Amino acid sequence: MIFVTGGAGFIGANFVLNWLAQSDESVLNFDKLTYAGNLNTLKSLQNDPRHLFVQGDICDTAVLDSLFAKHQPRAIVHFAAESHVDRSIHGPAAFIETNVNGTFSLLEAARKYWTGLSDEAKAGFRFLHVSTDEVYGTLEADDPPFSETTAYAPNSPYSASKAASDHLVRAYHHTYGLPVLTTNCSNNYGPYHFPEKLIPLVITSARAGKDLPVYGDGLQVRDWLFVTDHCAAIRRVLEAGKPGETYNVGGWNEQTNISVVHTICDLLDELAPKASGSYRDQIRHVKDRPGHDRRYAIDARKIERELGWKPAETFQTGLRKTVEWYLNNNEWVAQVQSGEYQNWINLQYQQG
Ligand code: NAD
Repeated sequence: MIFVTGGAGFIGANFVLNWLAQSDESVLNFDKLTYAGNLNTLKSLQNDPRHLFVQGDICDTAVLDSLFAKHQPRAIVHFAAESHVDRSIHGPAAFIETNVNGTFSLLEAARKYWTGLSDEAKAGFRFLHVSTDEVYGTLEADDPPFSETTAYAPNSPYSASKAASDHLVRAYHHTYGLPVLTTNCSNNYGPYHFPEKLIPLVITSARAGKDLPVYGDGLQVRDWLFVTDHCAAIRRVLEAGKPGETYNVGGWNEQTNISVVHTICDLLDELAPKASGSYRDQIRHVKDRPGHDRRYAIDARKIERELGWKPAETFQTGLRKTVEWYLNNNEWVAQVQSGEYQNWINLQYQQG
C-alpha cells in the first residue's frame, strides 16, 4: 500500500486516479478536505476496495502513527498543502501550519514508523515530497532555467512555506537517514483543477460571460506541465529515484500569462463559439499582485537523463484536452464553484 496525503486535491486526486488505473497496489488517501479537497473528483473510486479514504490533518501525529502502524505503507507520497499564492498573501498562517508544521509532523510520524521496520522494509521505504519550482524565486528573461542546484529564494508566503518544508525533508535524510525524494515541479494544469487558478478560472469565467482578469501586463512567464505528466514523473521518481535526491519536473514549455489566455480563448472560439465576437473581448487587465514573480522555468534534464522521464503532452494537446474536459464536466464545476469558492471570489472583487 502507498499512503497519499492531499489526494482529494487537484494533483493528488489525478495521481490517485492515475495510480489505480495502472496498478493494483492500494492507496490510503489521507486528506483534511479543506476548500481545495473534493471527494467528487474521486467518485469513480467509491466502491473500489483498493482506495481507502481517511479524512484527517497531517498536523495530527497521533492519527498518522496509528494509520501507519495499522496499514504498513511501503511509501508516502506527500501532496497535502495550502497551494494558492494569492490566498497566502491574504492569510499566510494556514500555509505555515500545513506546509511547515504539517510536513514536520508527517516526517516525525514517518521516521518513527520507518525506524521500527525490518532492515529489508526500511531499505525499500520511500517518503516522496511533492514541491514546487516557486522555491527558487524569480528569473530574469535571459537567466537559465532553475536546476536542482539553483539557490532557494522564495518570494511569497506560499513559496517560503514550501521551501521550509523542502529543507525539513532534506534534513530528515541527512540527520536520520529517512529515504526521502523531493520533486520540484512547474505549474500544472488539467482536469479537476480548482477554478481559482489561472487556466480553469479563464475557461469557466469565459463560458459564464464574465471578465477574464489578467494581472498587470500579462507578460509573467510560467512553465506549464499537464497534470498526468507530473503524475507519471512522480511514479518514476518513486520507482527509481535515488534517496536524498531532488528532481526538477517540467515540460520546457514557457508561456506568458497573456498568451495562455489568448490560446484558451481561441480554443473556446473553436469548440464552443459565442453567438457573436470572440472570448478575447472579455479580457481585462487588473492590478498586479504584490511580489509577483516575473518568470519561472524548469531545467528538467536530470529527471530526463537519469530516470528516462519525458512529458507525453505538448502544451497544445494538453490545453485542448483541458478545455474539452471543462466543457464536458459542468456538474463538477458547478459543485466546486458553490460555497467557499464564492466567498473567496467575493473577497477578491471587494479588494479590487
Ligand atoms: P490543492 O490545493 O489542489 O490540494 C491540496 C490538498 O491538500 C487538498 O485536497 C486539501 O484538502 C489537502 N490538505 C490541505 N491541508 C491539509 C492538511 N493539513 N492535512 C491533510 N490534507 C490537507 O493543491 P495541488 O495543486 O493539488 O498541489 C498539490 C501539491 O503539489 C502541493 O504540495 C503543491 O505545493 C505542489 N505543487 C503544485 C503545483 C501546481 O501547479 N498546482 C506545482 C508544483 C507543485
